[in-house]
Amino acid sequence: MRLLIMGPPGAGKGTQGTKVAEELGIPEISTGALFRWNIANETELGLQVKAIIDAGDLVPDSVVEALVADRLAQPDAQPGFLLDGFPRTIHQAHDLEEILAGLDMELDAAISLVVDAATLAERMKKRAAIEGRTDDTEETMRHRIEVYEHETSPLLTFYRERGLLVEVDGLGDVDTVHDRIISSLHK
Ligand code: AMP
Repeated sequence: MRLLIMGPPGAGKGTQGTKVAEELGIPEISTGALFRWNIANETELGLQVKAIIDAGDLVPDSVVEALVADRLAQPDAQPGFLLDGFPRTIHQAHDLEEILAGLDMELDAAISLVVDAATLAERMKKRAAIEGRTDDTEETMRHRIEVYEHETSPLLTFYRERGLLVEVDGLGDVDTVHDRIISSLHK
């Protein structure tokens, strides 16, 4: 299957993305994780994006799009994949359509995790304490939620119009949400 998972910061897309990809036996392609790896290893790309990510802003479309185009062309992504955190802008969504068309592929579903604002704030605080991500401070988190609302939430309409949107209630424990995702994909 060719999937993407989206949701506001703290919705659990990383956790759920990993589990769904594992269950379906497809690679999870997380742009955030790819960036964090590049930052930790001080690559040229890492140095280029570190300040942007720490501020909770979006990496420029052209940079992310090149990264994803390259990753999707790898042999392990040919039978299927799950994109986590891409696309995040309408420009990226159009770009993904082009990349996939070029590879003679189509998306099967865009999973959107739905979580209310109060739960998001609570989860992000917990995650900041556990993971120590430099972009998880309270102020940056507020900014990332704003960025999601302005830049990324228009994708809900984009994918709804294409009949690909699968909205899943993201409240509850990890296994409950996971089961909801899997059963909505079967529908
Ligand atoms: P994530 O792990 O998905 O929350 O991503 C962490 C950070 O990486 C985001 O806050 C952005 O700064 C950057 N990032 C990840 N994916 C994208 C994307 N598709 N477009 C722009 N920036 C991204």
